[in-house]
Parts: sequence; C-alpha cells; structure tokens
Amino acid sequence: MKRDISEHRRSATRSTVIGAQAVVVGAGIAGLAAAAALADWFERVTLLERDCLPDAAAPRAGTPQAWHPHGMLVGGQLALEETFPGLGEDFTRAGGVRCLINQDLREELPNRDPMPQRDFGMVAYTMSRPLIEATMRQRVLQRANVVLRQDTRALGILAKPGGRRVTAVRCVTGAHERTETFPADLVVDASGRGDLTMALLQSIGRPLPPQSVISIDLGYTTAIVDIPEDAPSGWKVVLTHPDMPRAARRGLVLPIEGNRWIVLMASRGTDRPPGEWDAVLAFARGLATPTIYNAIRKTTPIGRLARYGFPESVWRHFDRVVGLPEGLVPIGDAICRFNPIYGQGMTVAAKEARLLHCLLGERASQPDPFVGLGQAFLAEAKPLIETAWTMASIPDFAFPNTRGDRPADLEQSLRFAAGLSRLAARDPVVQRLVVEVWHMLRPRSDYRDPELVRRVEAEIAETV
Ligand SMILES: Cc1cc2nc3c(=O)[nH]c(=O)nc-3n(C[C@H](O)[C@H](O)[C@H](O)COP(=O)(O)OP(=O)(O)OC[C@H]3O[C@@H](n4cnc5c(N)ncnc54)[C@H](O)[C@@H]3O)c2cc1C
Repeated sequence: MKRDISEHRRSATRSTVIGAQAVVVGAGIAGLAAAAALADWFERVTLLERDCLPDAAAPRAGTPQAWHPHGMLVGGQLALEETFPGLGEDFTRAGGVRCLINQDLREELPNRDPMPQRDFGMVAYTMSRPLIEATMRQRVLQRANVVLRQDTRALGILAKPGGRRVTAVRCVTGAHERTETFPADLVVDASGRGDLTMALLQSIGRPLPPQSVISIDLGYTTAIVDIPEDAPSGWKVVLTHPDMPRAARRGLVLPIEGNRWIVLMASRGTDRPPGEWDAVLAFARGLATPTIYNAIRKTTPIGRLARYGFPESVWRHFDRVVGLPEGLVPIGDAICRFNPIYGQGMTVAAKEARLLHCLLGERASQPDPFVGLGQAFLAEAKPLIETAWTMASIPDFAFPNTRGDRPADLEQSLRFAAGLSRLAARDPVVQRLVVEVWHMLRPRSDYRDPELVRRVEAEIAETV
C-alpha cells in the first residue's frame, strides 16, 4: 500500500491515546524518530539510552559511526520533516549547511566527465552526525509526554508466559547498576543491532529469523578540517567514485557546521585507508580524480582521525518470524545495517518511523491496536528495505571479492546502471529520475518504464 504525506498528516491530526506507555530502546536516529512518532498515540513514551548523552553535539560511545560523514537523503529529510515540522530550519540554525541537489554536488566518475550539476529544486542539509542527533533530540524532548532515561541500559525485553505479548523492558541504570523495569504496551527495539529482539525470540522458543549478508570488508578513515579560504567555488560536496571493479578507493568531502569539511577516504579489503594524515593525503592522490587531493592538500586535521571497519551488510528478516510477540517492533539498524557508503540508513529509519505512526493511526480505533502491529509494520517496511538493499547490492557485487548471494542478472543490472548514468548525464529529465530514485523519493521500479528501457538499451548498444 502506498502511503503519501497527506495520509500521514491526516492520521497525525486524529491522534488518540491507545496505550499507557511505549518504550523505545536506543536514542539514535531510529529511536528518536520512533519516539516522536509514538508520542501522538501514547500517554507516555520512555526513551532508554545506555549512554550519558552530551549536551553539545559530540560523538559518544554507543554510536561509534558518529565520527564519520552522515549524509541524509532527501527522502529521509522529508520523512523527518513530517515527524518534526520545520526540522530543516532547525538544522540550518544549528549550523547545518543547505545544499541544492545536485547543483552543489560534484559527482566524479572514473574516465568520464563529472555528472552535470543541475538544480532539481531539492534541498538537503549537511552537518555532522552528532549535530543531526542533537537537533532531533531537542525536538523530541519538546514533546511533554516523551521522557528520556539516559545512562540506562536495556537488559532484556520481557513477555507474558508463552511469549504471546511483550510486557516490559528490564534495565540497569547509573553507576550503582540499579535494576528497573519499565512496563510497556509497545516496545520498539531501536538499539542498532537487534540483539534484544533476538534474545527475546530465543528465550520464548521462537526460531531466529533468516539473515541476508553481503560481505564487503569496507574500511573508512575520516578527518575534519577547516574549509580553506581558497576552496573551490563550484561545489559544496564532492564525491569521487571508485574505478570499479579495478580499484575500490572512494572519497567524499562534505561541509559541516563551523565552516568545516568532513573528509572521508574509503576502500575495501587490504587497501585500508590509513590512520596518519600524510598517508591519507597520499591515499587521496590515488583516487580516480585529483579534485579531493587538491582541495585538502594544504589543510590540517582538527583532532584525531577516525577509522571504522564495516565487514558486512546484514538484513535480519524479522518479517518471516512466525509467532512474533504482540507489541514488539524492531526498527532501523536493528533490522538492517546497510553498507554506509550509500547513505541510506537514516533515511530508511526515518521512513520506518513514519510508517509506524501511520499504522498506529489506522489501528487507533481497534479494540486491541497491538494485535498484528509488528507483523504489519515489518511487512510494509520490507519493500522499503528491499529498495535500499538492492540499490546498494548491485554496485557492491561489482567487486569480485564481495561475498553473498549474487543476483542472477547482476551483469545485466550493472550494464543497465552504466547506460542509465550516461543517459542521465545528457538528459536532465533522466538525471532527475535517477536522483529521485537514489534519494528514495520514487520507487526503483520506475526504471522499468518501457521507453526508458529502450533508450538505455540504445545507449548501451552505442558504447559496446
Ligand atoms: C561508518 C558509518 C557511516 C554511516 N553513514 C551514513 C550516512 O552517510 N547516511 C545514513 O543515512 N546512514 C549512515 N550510516 C547508518 C546510520 O548510522 C544508521 O543507519 C542510523 O543511524 C540508524 O541507526 P539506529 O538508530 O537504528 O542505530 P544506532 O545509530 O546504532 O543507535 C542505537 C542506539 O541504541 C543505543 N543502545 C544500544 N543498545 C542499547 C541498550 N541495550 N540499552 C539502551 N540503549 C542501547 C546506542 O547507544 C545508540 O544510541 C552509517 C553507518 C556507519 C557505520
């Protein structure tokens, strides 16, 4: 079922209390978006976070990825705006940088001209991940019925005997490790790994869900630098793609708050991006184009370089679990951890939170709104996840050493993607379509339009 913005708005204004307390585990992006979505439907929403959260926008132990660039797709921004109206202005006020898609993006492809920097009337905001989170947190906590319990680690989700329905979350709080139990009509597992949901399923004798895994062996090194005075004026963001499948090096420069750039070097396997700045500059010289090296060569990193290893993308198919307890909803990375290079995770989490809001609205008048809620949520989240997963897996499998279930039509999909990209460079209408699909504003199935397929095939035929 397709849900549009107006439908969400209608359900939001009809809000009714359907439960006394919802408990959300994890105050990352998924947890914050979910807590705001639930606040319309519960007397109280309790958000549990194991970290002590910083007042300012700063990385913290529970989200080690926060040292690295976090680009938000336009589809994610719009979903968050539905949850937090005016969030884009909040981002700008907090120091986020307004970027026009794709006018402000220099997207560099090996052995070709960069993609044309056309303006499609879409706005994205770039900033550090801690600033995204701090801004969202501020908005969530403006809701009178949302309570944040930090320094509170969930130990387990409790269920009725037989595991038919969840009842509470058991936690440990503070330096004295006091245990506490939070009763819940609904538990949202936004803990990023899904371990709590898995442990519950195991404890009540349900089979664990099958998983899809794509082993990518990705390495990240990130630095933050001041934007130099002689920075190029033709772009705000630059993205240099790898010369696939020969080389895996990829670079990204993204503006963040405080007139700084966050600079990422990424690669795969043994070609790990280094941890010393001089070596990072040398690594940047090995990118497919010199733009990033030229932009950063006279800069010095502020603070330490951050490194991250991401071995594999994992999708836990909770939608296939038979006998999922009522009142349980895993969300965000707890269901699926995507290859971060494509910037999809926050968008999928934001869209899932809207979906949850919408489903609760539809069920608000039912005698027991929680019956079948988890299954309905997971069934409707599945195509959303599948879209992002497929868009990431096609370029991932272009590398011969990527492990996982290679799609049977991979060669055809790669050829189609290359032809589509060349056509998009020439034709603004096609480029807009590609950008909208990429930003999760329209379905990937739009690529199956017969006229588009015919033109892409003609493009492919011309280049062989
Ligand atoms: C290196 C890297 C770069 C990325 N770049 C991008 C990007 O550019 N764009 C994008 O959209 N996405 C990106 N992502 C993905 C993005 O970080 C996540 O998809 C997104 O933040 C949603 O995650 P989440 O909220 O589900 O989980 P998380 O962000 O991991 O948050 C989970 C929260 O739960 C808390 N928690 C965990 N266990 C417990 C417990 N037992 N009790 C209480 N609290 C608990 C944690 O402390 C944390 O606060 C990137 C990921 C990585 C690894």
